[in-house]
Amino acid sequence: MERGLMLSYDEDEGILWLHPLFGSKLSKESIEKHSIVCTIDDCDCEDCEKKRGPIGFLSSILLYVPTEIGMAIQRLTPSEARTLGNSLISYANDIDAIQEEM
Ligand SMILES: [Zn+2]
Repeated sequence: MERGLMLSYDEDEGILWLHPLFGSKLSKESIEKHSIVCTIDDCDCEDCEKKRGPIGFLSSILLYVPTEIGMAIQRLTPSEARTLGNSLISYANDIDAIQEEM
């Protein structure tokens, strides 16, 4: 496990609990429905700098998940994003393997 990563894994349940450094936010901006968006927060324009606050640009990843009341935004550190990504790949591979056995 990478140092400083807030992470717990319930092996019996197969559930990954990721506890990101940054809290999630809700954006009321209009969104593309049914679209999960993932991007590096790499814009150094004034607006984005204001939104980011004291966090340096090119240092985090933004994950947007659409909800009925707006876009839920979760900022992830590179190691958090890597852990989440690896878990998604692992779960997807598990499903494929199980499906092949059925
Ligand atoms: Zn910008």
